[in-house]
Amino acid sequence: MKVAVLPGDGVGPEIVAQAVRVLMAVRPDIECCQALVGAAAMRAGKAALPDETRALCDSSDAILFGSVGDAQLDGQPFERRPETALFSLRHDYKLFANLRPVRVYDGLEHASSLHAHLIHGLDLIVVRELTGGIYFGVPKERGVRQGVAWAVDTLSYTAPEVERIARVAFELARSRRKRITSVDKHNILQTSRLWRDVVSEVACEYPDVQVEHLLVDNASMQLVRRPRDFDVIVTENMFGDILSDEAAILCGSIGNLPSASLSSDVSVRAFGMYEPIGGTAPDIAGKGIANPTGAILSAAMLLRYTAGDEENAARIETAVAQAFRRGVRTPDLARDGDRPVTTAAFGDEVIAGL
Ligand code: NAD
Repeated sequence: MKVAVLPGDGVGPEIVAQAVRVLMAVRPDIECCQALVGAAAMRAGKAALPDETRALCDSSDAILFGSVGDAQLDGQPFERRPETALFSLRHDYKLFANLRPVRVYDGLEHASSLHAHLIHGLDLIVVRELTGGIYFGVPKERGVRQGVAWAVDTLSYTAPEVERIARVAFELARSRRKRITSVDKHNILQTSRLWRDVVSEVACEYPDVQVEHLLVDNASMQLVRRPRDFDVIVTENMFGDILSDEAAILCGSIGNLPSASLSSDVSVRAFGMYEPIGGTAPDIAGKGIANPTGAILSAAMLLRYTAGDEENAARIETAVAQAFRRGVRTPDLARDGDRPVTTAAFGDEVIAGL
């Protein structure tokens, strides 16, 4: 197996370095090849996604990604910003299924903004459709008509697009607690009616999985009211964007959360891009204090979904859980009385626990 390692900008290189160390500790046979992406590539006089980086991705089985962004380039048109690399990779490799597991580890309940009794043992996963919906629909325009400023975005889905993401969710549910919550806006949107009909049709093939349909406004409330009742949440692109960030804060630190973006169903080994959900964290970049958990757990997801290596994926997740149980914390999770560790020391602790 070959993995394209794209650390990117800000804390990206710091946290991805720990993920690669952990990956190498369990699977030294995997070839990891590093390349520039984002502002790091642009500073070297290249495009945000240089040709050689794309060629490396083309010849790899998976991408381990850090983060991209640079405040100095925020004023540039979108096509000249580091973030274009991320959108090109998602689009060009047809990474339609975005998986974001959210887990509250024992001992970290205090870090959540919700009461500990509500989130103790929380373990859910958001499955977000990533390549369709209102972010990509056309027409997408802005202008002035008869002196009035005007703009339009288009929300469009086809039945096959809904069916393939529904299958990802149902397959995942089968390997978990067998419960799916499908989120839509069925009472208002035609796309949501299509969504609900297709999800219900796919559900007939999975009689062992319990299905609940929620309107998105209700889902956003239930997520903070009874978060532990959720197992797999499946939804369209924009609802998923918002709900997955809401779910993320349940576990306290954005630094804890991994993600996978896959090009096929989880029942087969998929090409995928694996990345922590946080950004470049410019406020702490270069200090060696970023939380590498999300990057390390992204490497575990890479083993599970692309390498088909459940055993080593679970080993990494257990080693992370044990490190937290031993009180090992980076500053974002530390509270009074804790002695926070560095990014590299956290990596050491996980490797020691493997
Ligand atoms: P951010 O995620 O970088 O930071 C938000 C807060 O979370 C900050 O306080 C930061 O210190 C903290 N944080 C993030 N990751 C952390 C980690 N691993 N450990 C500890 N704390 C962590 O979001 P932002 O400030 O809105 O964005 C900064 C830059 O990152 C922008 O240029 C943005 O475009 C980019 N960004 C990139 C990605 C990506 O590459 N996937 C995602 C989000 C934002």
